[in-house]
Amino acid sequence: MAKKSKSNDEKNINANPSSAQPLRIRKRIVLDFPPQVVQTPLTYILAKEYDVASNILRAEIAPEESGKLVMEMDGLPDMVEKALGRIKEMGINVTEIARKVTFNMDKCIHCGACVSVCLAGALKLDKDYHLQFIEPKCTVCEMCVSACPVDVVEIDI
Ligand code: SF4
Ligand code: SF4
Repeated sequence: MAKKSKSNDEKNINANPSSAQPLRIRKRIVLDFPPQVVQTPLTYILAKEYDVASNILRAEIAPEESGKLVMEMDGLPDMVEKALGRIKEMGINVTEIARKVTFNMDKCIHCGACVSVCLAGALKLDKDYHLQFIEPKCTVCEMCVSACPVDVVEIDI
């Protein structure tokens, strides 16, 4: 499924491209909780110990029963990985939801607006001023989505 993603939260991530702030990433995951850890204050632990913000997108959890959460994590890459390790150690099964960016190049006017907000270096204009997308460098930060004046960029989830 492809969707345009322009919520305020998403626009604000890495909002100052000129700063030297390290890049944060987002990951969407599905968590399957066994009954013994359903009451664990997971979002508090992630925020306090790993500085990872979690946005719960869907929850099916009842006390003393197994449950399922769909959650988006937002943090520094190494901290997100450590947080995922901690979650797994608790006995919670983690499934990552793949997300990627696609560019509808038929609509692109090669203005370069997305290049200037891409801190990961995944976008550049070539010598003919045509946009190049270097997908392996993309952290799916979504900054280019709101930067593009003609809605070329889509996030596939
Ligand atoms: S190309 Fe990837 S890393 Fe660059 S701004 Fe877009 S989503 Fe972020
Ligand atoms: S901002 Fe949009 S139109 Fe401009 S170069 Fe990037 S993808 Fe193309």
